[in-house]
Amino acid sequence: MCGIIGGICQNNITPLLVSGLKRLEYRGYDSAGLVILNGDNALQRVRAAGKVVNLENNIDSKTVNGKIGIAHTRWATHGEPTTKNAHPHICNGDVGVVHNGIIENFLELKIEQQAQGYHFSSDTDTEIIAHAIHQTLQDGDGLLAAVQKAVKTFKGAYGISVISPKNPGHIIVARSGSPLVIGVGEKGNFVASDQVALLDVTKQFIFLEEGDIADITLDSITIFDKSDIQVERKIKTSKLQNRQISKGDYAHYMQKEIFEQPQAIADTLESRITKDKVLTSAFGYEAKDIFEKIEHIQIIACGTSYNAGLVAKYWLEDIAKIPTHIEVASEYRYRNPIILDNTLFITISQSGETADTLEALRASKNAMKISIHLRFATVLNLV
Ligand code: GLU
Repeated sequence: MCGIIGGICQNNITPLLVSGLKRLEYRGYDSAGLVILNGDNALQRVRAAGKVVNLENNIDSKTVNGKIGIAHTRWATHGEPTTKNAHPHICNGDVGVVHNGIIENFLELKIEQQAQGYHFSSDTDTEIIAHAIHQTLQDGDGLLAAVQKAVKTFKGAYGISVISPKNPGHIIVARSGSPLVIGVGEKGNFVASDQVALLDVTKQFIFLEEGDIADITLDSITIFDKSDIQVERKIKTSKLQNRQISKGDYAHYMQKEIFEQPQAIADTLESRITKDKVLTSAFGYEAKDIFEKIEHIQIIACGTSYNAGLVAKYWLEDIAKIPTHIEVASEYRYRNPIILDNTLFITISQSGETADTLEALRASKNAMKISIHLRFATVLNLV
């Protein structure tokens, strides 16, 4: 859901992990962390709530130094946004995992794992991944086989990267409903949830397909499909930087944004959606309880966002059958509206900075109602 970066190279990987996480900040997140395999072949982890810079400040460059590592920016779906819930999650010093997405059957797997004696140190769904891989690793077939077996027990959406002192020199990655791209470099191989994280080290990318699992080493990339059959995936050269800064073939930026809407919606929903529904927990770890209480919806926005809100009103009343009102933020903030109990506030702003909309949001928070602020094409956040 948020960001993954990992890699194996001939030098210390830590600076690349940190700069990659910074490049992924645009998706929004609440905490960050990384784990490397150090010179003693041990997992060395650093995590921090809040910004990547907090993580960076916690890194002691003498000890957090290794040629292989994985890192993550988390957007909490299960468990509060705290340091103990930040990724990577580790099982018994043998398995380090970062995960984007949601494991829907985590509770039943957690109960099974607890019965087998696994201790849980976080409230996340992700921790069951570390334990499941640890469990299958005991069969002695190596990390790749362990991940291949473990993922078959997961329901939901995941992009994962895994390292282990039991198989040093390998990063195993798997994707199902959450994108992962492998960066093929001259001085190493890398993985990320978005190619932008790797543009400093390579422009050559392999985009994993649904169900793919890859074994990445310093000089090899071996990919298996969802039936565990070895497959070839094409290496593509990224043109991303050009596309980002130019209008391309469009007459102007507004036209470009209009035509990019399908992609923007796909990017927003990626790993927040399963085959038939958007996952409630994708709205935040408290979303389920909040959504159950909603009796009214009040949308606040300005300009084009207001027009988007009008469409939302039709859909919310038609599909969710919840009475929905919409008002321009500059009017709303200057009057004394009567706010009914259990009203969900939705404020919409493309920039995320529209002053009247933010002021209305602040007023609604003071009124202790339930509020959501939407920023186009990035993340939905419960506040
Ligand atoms: N579901 C996981 C968690 O809450 C991963 C969230 C994410 O995609 O960042 O930790």
